[in-house]
Amino acid sequence: MTSSKSSPSSVRDSLELLAKNWSIEPQIYDLQLGNRKDVYDTTLRVDKVTYHIPTLATDKLFVLWRCLWPDCHNCCDRQGRLPLTIDDVHVITRKMGYRLESEFLKNETKISSWDEKDEKGRVSTLFTMLSLKRKVDENDSEDGTPVSCRFLSKEGNCGLQPEKPGVCWLYPFASWINIENNVPVVHATFQFTGDCPGFYLSDSLDQMIPVLNEYAKTIYHYNMAVRRTIRNSYGLINFVK
Ligand code: SF4
Ligand code: SF4
Repeated sequence: MTSSKSSPSSVRDSLELLAKNWSIEPQIYDLQLGNRKDVYDTTLRVDKVTYHIPTLATDKLFVLWRCLWPDCHNCCDRQGRLPLTIDDVHVITRKMGYRLESEFLKNETKISSWDEKDEKGRVSTLFTMLSLKRKVDENDSEDGTPVSCRFLSKEGNCGLQPEKPGVCWLYPFASWINIENNVPVVHATFQFTGDCPGFYLSDSLDQMIPVLNEYAKTIYHYNMAVRRTIRNSYGLINFVK
């Protein structure tokens, strides 16, 4: 699941903005624009997550990532959507000082609907979930568009930390569940929205293994939380055949 949906033109706009402050390797720029035709996945199982690492065949290089915070907080400055799991609702209700969840839901959340496309650009999944308003007066037409999150401080810290929404812990990973041999298997890859300067190229996966280890538990638990959310009717997922 992604926190925002990006069309090719919005990725281009985001990359142009990003390039004003950060140096982006040309191959990574092209990859995010969908201009590389030689990309394949290197799959790697870490803990309970199968990662799909984009790999550039011509250059023989992996696309890897590390977070540049505190020098960067671009994902909070250009936040697209904050879908909430049922666990998020329980925790953030209290964090924001509400006694009643119903009051929190009424004042601080909205309903977001969006679709995800498969690798051929066909709509594969429709989501409807509660999402945390990124600004107090957020309206429906802003859903999925970049907004500077109201919880981001001038110093670049999150005012909800460590109770920030689960989706905030994942970026720039996108993750999903496939049913394999009757067992749910969690997969993850990068989402290329054009807003993250943390991608880099390497001929070895070694330096990213600690990061993949660190994120595997978070990604797995987030996906289980999404399943609980749907089961408890706090959200809906429809798979398009
Ligand atoms: S945009 Fe990327 S590098 Fe910057 S804080 Fe977010 S995840 Fe880290
Ligand atoms: S809730 Fe916190 S981590 Fe999430 S986008 Fe807002 S400031 Fe960033």
